[in-house]
Amino acid sequence: MALRNKISEILDSYDKSKIAIATLCSHSSLQIFYGARREGFRTIGLAVNQKTKFYDAFPLAKPDEFIRFESYDEILERADELVDRNIIIIPHGSFVEYMGTEKFEKLPVPTFGNRAVLQWESDREKQREWLVSAGVEMPKKISDAKEIDRPVLVKYHGAKGGRGFFIAKDYPDFKLGIDESQPYTIQEYVLGTRYYLHYFYSPIKKDGYRVAEGSLELLSMDRRDESNIDEMYKLGAQEELKKLGLYPTFVVTGNVPVVIRESLLPKIFDMGERVINRSIELFGGMIGPFCLETIVTDKLEFKVFEISSRIVAGTNPFISGSPYSDLIEPELSTGRRISREIKIARDRGLLHKIVS
Ligand code: ATP
Repeated sequence: MALRNKISEILDSYDKSKIAIATLCSHSSLQIFYGARREGFRTIGLAVNQKTKFYDAFPLAKPDEFIRFESYDEILERADELVDRNIIIIPHGSFVEYMGTEKFEKLPVPTFGNRAVLQWESDREKQREWLVSAGVEMPKKISDAKEIDRPVLVKYHGAKGGRGFFIAKDYPDFKLGIDESQPYTIQEYVLGTRYYLHYFYSPIKKDGYRVAEGSLELLSMDRRDESNIDEMYKLGAQEELKKLGLYPTFVVTGNVPVVIRESLLPKIFDMGERVINRSIELFGGMIGPFCLETIVTDKLEFKVFEISSRIVAGTNPFISGSPYSDLIEPELSTGRRISREIKIARDRGLLHKIVS
C-alpha cells in the first residue's frame, strides 16, 4: 500500500483526544516539547542513543515519556509502537539528517508537513531549480572553475554544517584547495549580512497575510554563530592565515536573535510567498515552518543560499516569542505554532491536510 494511503488509514484510526507529539531528542526538541505541552498535548521523546538527563534541568520541556532506540533503523522497525501511542512526529533538521532522507521518507508514522518536499530540498540542484523558478535570487553558480573571476565558496555535497567548504578568489586558489574526489559546486561568495528568516505557512488559516489557500507568517529571525570563520578576522588577513595552514570553517555553534530593517519586510513576505506558490505547483505545497537562509548586500538585495523546509535551530532563542511573533500572539514560538496548527486541524477534522 502506498505510504500516503497507509498514513491516512493510521490517522483515521487514531484516538484524536490522545494525540501525542514526538520528536528526536536533539536540535529544537526543548522548544517543540514545551510548545506542545502548552497546547495541551502529551509529549514523547525519541532517543537514539541521545543522552536525556539534561531534560531534568528543564522540567517544563521534559517529554512525558522517552522511547529509546539503538539505531535509526530500529525506529522504522518499531514504528507500530509509535502508532499505538497516537503519535504525530515533528521533523527537525537533525532528525532528518541523522536518520537519512530515504528512511525518513518511508517512516510509516504520521508526520507533520508534506514529506514530498524532501525530494526537492535534499538535492542542491533541485533546490536551486525550485527557488530560481520561484523568482528568488540565489548566489550565482559557476560551472567551470576556470571562470572564477570573483571570490567564490566551494561547497562539497552533503558537507553538513559547511565542513570543508572553502573560499577561493581565482583558479589557482581553487586548485590549491580542491579535493577532486568529492562532488562539489562553486558559488559566488556573497558579501553581506546573513539573515535566517523563520516563516510558517498554514494551508488552513484563512486570515492574516494570505497566500494561496492559506496564510503566511513570519515568526522570527536569527543569525548563526559559525566557527571558526566568525572569529578568524581577529588573527589577520585570510592570505596570511592560509600560510599558517588556517582555513575558515562554517560549523554552526549557536544562534543569535536579530531583527531586520523594517523596510525589508515587504521583500521578505514576497520571497516567502513565491517559494510557497511554487512549492504548490511542484509538489503539492510546503507546510508549516521553513527558513530562507539569506545574505543581504549593501544594495539591500537578498540572495537566498539555502532553504530548510522544517523547524530550524535558529528558532530556539524565541521560546517565549520574538519581536515578530509577539505581534501575532504573545509567547508564540515556532514549536508552539506547530502544535497549535495540529490542534486546530484536529478540531476541524483537517489533519490530513497538514500531516503526511
Ligand atoms: P547547513 O545544512 O548546516 O545549513 P550547509 O552545509 O548546507 O549547512 P550552507 O548553509 O550552504 O551549508 O552554508 C554554510 C555557511 O556558509 C552559511 O551559513 C554561510 O555563512 C556561508 N555561505 C553559504 N553560501 C554562501 C555564499 N554564497 N556566500 C557567502 N557565504 C555563504
